[in-house]
Amino acid sequence: MNSSLPTTLVIGTTNLAKQQEISVLLDPYKIKCKSLRDFTSAVSVAETGSTFAENAALKAVQQAQALNHWVLAEDSGLVVDAIEGSPGVYSARFAGPQATDAENNTLLIERLAQTPHARRIAYYACHATLAAPDGTIQATADGRCYGHIAKSARGKSGFGYDPYFIISEYHQTFGELSQAVKSLISHRGRAIRSIIPMIVKSLTP
Ligand code: IMP
Repeated sequence: MNSSLPTTLVIGTTNLAKQQEISVLLDPYKIKCKSLRDFTSAVSVAETGSTFAENAALKAVQQAQALNHWVLAEDSGLVVDAIEGSPGVYSARFAGPQATDAENNTLLIERLAQTPHARRIAYYACHATLAAPDGTIQATADGRCYGHIAKSARGKSGFGYDPYFIISEYHQTFGELSQAVKSLISHRGRAIRSIIPMIVKSLTP
């Protein structure tokens, strides 16, 4: 590896909110980051896995091979006990293939209409996967964040299910809490911080 040229890490998402949450965590490490938006050769990956780990691997491996770059991909979602773990890996498309966050949230709240607060337990899960340019998986990490589902939306921060996801210790949703707090305790923050040492080891000369 040429020590004068930092190796590029591609953050394997087109979700701007996710990309920002991940880049902030990588900022201190002086790793040159790009995102899928910087490449016309990025592929559309079918998320056919039945677990977050399988989908994260599909994204990391296929994008790394298509771009010939190191790729950090993640798959994440919301798991709600009272509805048998839904929406789970279908979090982004809970209300349909092109569903908006608002449509997914409406369906979630409908499904939980008869569920009292004590049983509205949920967690966010994130599985992060680092793939080398040849598509081999070099590292993986998991993160979880536990909470409850609110009956109505609170706050405008974050994305997806955040306005409904209450963090018990703070009595606030991720929609109300700052990005700095979310980054400290979120599923994504935890998974990315766990995988960073392997990224640094693999990408810095
Ligand atoms: P993915 O892009 O296929 O991993 O799907 C992720 C989906 O899970 C998002 O579209 C959201 O619906 C949900 N999700 C994952 N992480 C978060 C988060 O941090 N806040 C809110 N929703 C999230």
